[in-house]
Parts: sequence; C-alpha cells; structure tokens
Amino acid sequence: MRKNYSRREFIKQNSLTGLGAFMAMSSPAIVFAGHSGDISKPAILGGSPVRTKGWYDWPVWDIEQDEAAVINVLRSGIWCRVEEGGHVVSEFEDKWAGLIGSKRCLAMVNGTNSLITSLNMLNVGAGDEVIVTPYTFIATINAILEVGAMPVFADIDPETFQIDPAKIQEKITSRTRAILPVHILGLPCDIVRIVEIARRHDLVVVEDACQAWLAEVNHQKAGTFGNAGCFSFQNSKNLAIGEGGAIVSDDDAFMNRCGSYSDNGRPYGSADLVGGGYVRRGSNLRMTEYQAAIGLVQLKRLDEQTTTRNRNAAYLRSKVSNIPGILPYRLYDNVTRAAFHLFPFRYKKEEFSGLHRNDFIKALLAEGVPASPGYPGNLNSMEYLNEAFQSKNFQMVYSKEMLDFDQFVDNNRTPENEHLCNEEAVWFYQSMLLGTNSDMDDIFNAIEKVHANAGKIKAAL
Ligand SMILES: *Cc1c(COP(=O)(O)O)cnc(C)c1O
Repeated sequence: MRKNYSRREFIKQNSLTGLGAFMAMSSPAIVFAGHSGDISKPAILGGSPVRTKGWYDWPVWDIEQDEAAVINVLRSGIWCRVEEGGHVVSEFEDKWAGLIGSKRCLAMVNGTNSLITSLNMLNVGAGDEVIVTPYTFIATINAILEVGAMPVFADIDPETFQIDPAKIQEKITSRTRAILPVHILGLPCDIVRIVEIARRHDLVVVEDACQAWLAEVNHQKAGTFGNAGCFSFQNSKNLAIGEGGAIVSDDDAFMNRCGSYSDNGRPYGSADLVGGGYVRRGSNLRMTEYQAAIGLVQLKRLDEQTTTRNRNAAYLRSKVSNIPGILPYRLYDNVTRAAFHLFPFRYKKEEFSGLHRNDFIKALLAEGVPASPGYPGNLNSMEYLNEAFQSKNFQMVYSKEMLDFDQFVDNNRTPENEHLCNEEAVWFYQSMLLGTNSDMDDIFNAIEKVHANAGKIKAAL
C-alpha cells in the first residue's frame, strides 16, 4: 500500500461517483495562521504565499463509470465506428446534437479537422478570403490555410476579447467568401450581428466553437448560428476526451458531405468498406469508439461543471472588478450562458505602479495562483503565413501582389489585439473555476496583495 497519494490518485480513490470528484476537489481553503512567514510581504519577495495547496487536476473522471465505459468498448472488440455493431460514436453524436439543439452532429478526430472539413464541404477554398479574428488558437488560422484560402484579420473589441463586427464589415471585398467567428475563451462572440453581416453579403459562416461547449446567445447554443459549428474535445478542453471534435449543422446535405469526406469519400452512411462507389475526395477523420465512450461519460458532467464555472466566474468577476487596474471580460448583452474555457481580464499597469503584466503574472504565481498572458499578439504576421504563401498551391492561385508578405502584414494590422496580447491580457484556467467561493477568494486576495505591493515588487525586480 502506498501512503502518499498524489493529488490525482487521491481524486481517483475518492471519485466513485461523478460527484465524488467534486467533493474531493473542494476541500477548504488554507488558513493563513498555518504559515510561519510574513503574509503581508509578497511571496515573490520572500513572503508567504496566499495559497500553498494546488488547484484542480484536469481532466477528472471516476473509476467506476469512466473506466468501465472504456473497458466495455475494449472487450466488445468493436473499436471503430464502421465495424458492424459499432454504435458508441453514433450515440455520442445523437447526444451532442440533442444538447446543442442541432439537427445533426458528426464526430471527428479533432477540432482542427472539423474546421477544415466544414470549410472544404462548404466549398471555401482557393482564391477565397476568410475573415477571422487574430485573437485565437493557431488551429483556426491553419484551417483556412489548409483549404487554400486567404485569412483576412479583423481586429477585436478588447472589452469582450472577441472579433469586432464593425471591423469585419470593413474587411469585406469581392473575394470574401466566409467569416470564421471564434467564441474565444468560451465567451460568445457577437454572433447575431456577424450572421446578419454574412447574410447581407452572401457569405458562409463557420463557427469555431472549439472553446464554447454549451455557451448560449439568446438561449441558443454557440455553434448553431452559422452554416456549421465546430467543437474540440482535446484534453485541456471543458469536455475532454484526449483528442476529438465534432461538426454540427441543420443542413442534411452538408452533413452528408462532411460524413462522406471524413470517411475517405464513401457515400455517407455506406457500409461498404472496400469496394466501389467513392463519391468525393476525402480523408479518414473518424472518431474511435473509445473516444466516444469517454465523451459520453464526460458529457454527463458538462452541464453541472458549466454551471459551476459560471457561478464562480460571476463571483470572481464581481470581486476583482473592485481592484483598480483589473478589468474583467465583458459579455455581450444577449449572452445567456458562457462556457468559461478561460477567465480573462485586462491588466492596467498604470494602476500597479507600472509593474509589467508579465511580472504581475510571476508575482501571482508566487502567491500560488497560476495565470497566463494568453495568445501571442502576432498571429497575423508570423512566419507560418509566409511559409504558406511560398507553397505551390498558394503560388498557383494568388497574385504576386497578394503574396507579398510585407504588404499582407501591412493590410492585416490589428492594433487592439496587439496591445491586448502584449500588454494587458491575463487568463485563469477553466479548472480553477471548478472550485468554491473560497478558492475564488484566494485568487482575489493574491491579486489584491500584489496590487498593494506593486511598487515594492517593481523596484525589487
Ligand atoms: C482547441 C481549439 C481548436 C482545435 O481543436 P483541436 O481539437 O485541438 O484540433 C480550434 N480552435 C480553437 C479556438 C481551439 O481552442
């Protein structure tokens, strides 16, 4: 018998039910009296940290339900959806479509390929411009490049962290074919206005909802506003499978094309694995039965976890709003629920004696509160774009002028995004929002302590 359980083992040992994991995770906050050191002195300068215990492991699972689900698939010998008797992936698809309020769902290998497939099957490709936010994970932009289309960057609204519809409007040209709005950080973007703009200009909308599971605008789920909605179930995501993704849509013909494409171009739903009737180019992007089994058990927790994240985010937001120089995210008025893949705020160093954002984050980490500066501010000018421009496919399709990289960078400047990323953005991770009010109090106390000592910290670093 081992005596010293790691935190993960502790949770495993104590999570015989879905709730068990939460109970194991919500032990009371540390008591300052337990510290011998000076708690008023910033930890980064040698004082005692606000918090010494860790945060919540991610992903979480319970031994009974989750492990049995995977073992059942293993023992069935049916590991791939197209084998006779394969039903776990289709069960996951039905559940996801039902939850999202979409007519159809196609499970995929990951979010990136869900985006690529959606663009492909909506015939967005060579010569097309796709308007996109620079404030996103790289996969969003890669999907555009992978179908041979040209990304066009529209700046963000720093208050919401989302693409600014007014900036989208300015970027529309005769070549624009699609808008790829991202509900970044799990906060819904201004999707109603974006869809209106798309309708007016006859553009396709592929929603990157890869961080927006169960997020809602006017009680309608993110991912159901555009022609297609794409999700990711990668390990860090709020619905974690390890790898995984999904496309949702109400358009049967489109979904059949996606199903066919993701199955090497077999007609959608064909049981014929070897012979004959291939109807399109395609790939193999099928989710395995194992992945779906994990997805199904994780799904049972998602709604409750989402409620917890919303509750803790609202509480933390209300508290940190009182600290000068901390400006939490703003949700659009029509948002009825957010997913909170991250808890973002803007940091104004003027209110922290000029302490740089990155040093503020280091000081928080020393207090036991991990935080991140988030995305780089130059996704619209990084070398990967130029590499794509030099590829045979791009060289064949676009004019020399369009592939002039300096010119491209000039045309795609997004100063709001650059400032946000380089100077102001700070994130807390979704798993930190699965705790209690007292966990949120630790975060608040750490920020306040750094605020009170910002001048001293700046002078010492
Ligand atoms: C995670 C993510 C993706 C890609 O999903 P994968 O499943 O990792 O391929 C795309 N867009 C955004 C915004 C994401 O966060």
